[in-house]
Amino acid sequence: MAERPENRSVVRRGLVPPDDLRPLVTPLYPSVAYRAASPDALDDQYEGRTEGYTYAREGHPNADVLADKLDWLEGMHEGVVTASGMAALTAIILATVEQGAHVVAGEQLYGRSMRMLSQDLPRFGVGVSFVDTCDADAVRAAVRPETQIVLVEVMSNPTLRIADLEGIAAIAREEGLLLVVDNTFTTPRAIRPADYGADIVFSSVTKLLAGHSDATLGYVAARNRKIRARLRDVAVTWGLTPSPFDCWLAERGLHSFAVRYDRATENAAELADFLAAHEAVERVIYPGRADHPDHARAAALLAGAWGNMLSFTIAGGRRAANALVTAAPDIAFAPTLGDIGTTLSHPATSSHRGLDPSERTALGITEGFFRLSVGIEDIDLLRDELDRALIAAQAERE
Ligand SMILES: *Cc1c(COP(=O)(O)O)cnc(C)c1O
Repeated sequence: MAERPENRSVVRRGLVPPDDLRPLVTPLYPSVAYRAASPDALDDQYEGRTEGYTYAREGHPNADVLADKLDWLEGMHEGVVTASGMAALTAIILATVEQGAHVVAGEQLYGRSMRMLSQDLPRFGVGVSFVDTCDADAVRAAVRPETQIVLVEVMSNPTLRIADLEGIAAIAREEGLLLVVDNTFTTPRAIRPADYGADIVFSSVTKLLAGHSDATLGYVAARNRKIRARLRDVAVTWGLTPSPFDCWLAERGLHSFAVRYDRATENAAELADFLAAHEAVERVIYPGRADHPDHARAAALLAGAWGNMLSFTIAGGRRAANALVTAAPDIAFAPTLGDIGTTLSHPATSSHRGLDPSERTALGITEGFFRLSVGIEDIDLLRDELDRALIAAQAERE
């Protein structure tokens, strides 16, 4: 029998990577654990005299590289990257809310955020009031002695209303509440909520920041040092840690974020005008258009970076809606946003299907309501595809 190499030569690992390779790209570190030189060296690390990693759930290089870049974009420090946008919100709730506390939140929050607050928090003795965040007086009226946080999305989904961030920040300051802002739709390219007084900022990195629909991640950062430490503690204790590979992909995506955002915004602005002039379209919702109900506030807060999100309605009920989607096979009909390519969603059958029809109607979400997350494609291509789809939908009106 041929001699075999000893098994241990395969199993035993050397110290990798050697530090003189100087790669251009951040290496991917899937390692679950990190070695220490000695018990003394571990003391130094745990007591903060040296920096280093121990165990991936507690932190790893790919998360830290990504967090630094996101901190820089948001103008924050020591932010935490989490396994998803929802994990970021989980960390916020666990780090800031006590039993018996009360939360004031926007009435049009992201579906899962809404579910967490309305169905899970009451089980832990936390009350929640949902209010119209375009109306600072409504926010003030909802505040109770036990209120601890106010949770706001700068731009709501799918009606793209713009919250009165300045008014709400003033109330939070006066009442001693933490202002928590979800910046997913707007991104730090359009607004840095901390500049307006947000105490905690979070995002779904899954969407525009990573931008390629191949990584699920979140980010959260707080201005107060104690809250920052608590966010990190709950994130590693409750297991909200991100995967190194997703962080690596998101870092790669983030390199082109500003260029993608600007191009997608240009496309969205053009498409908004195109749709508004189309005979098959009843209504267009785009913050950059003068007919948007919060156009003036959007102009003040977003400084021209209106974003890539656009909603519109067509007449003709479900049949017309089905026809529109089938006649645009290259525009992905998918429940996400922020991809490099344009995606189309139908809130009545996806994000908002849990609402009663009357609640949907109150929000204006009819069968003919669509939301576009505009990508960076050639604008002529997008215009032609949508034109064809709209004509097909018009022919199917009920
Ligand atoms: C997607 C989304 C989230 C949740 O992020 P995930 O990464 O999917 O967990 C939260 N808020 C908003 C506004 C979102 O669009």
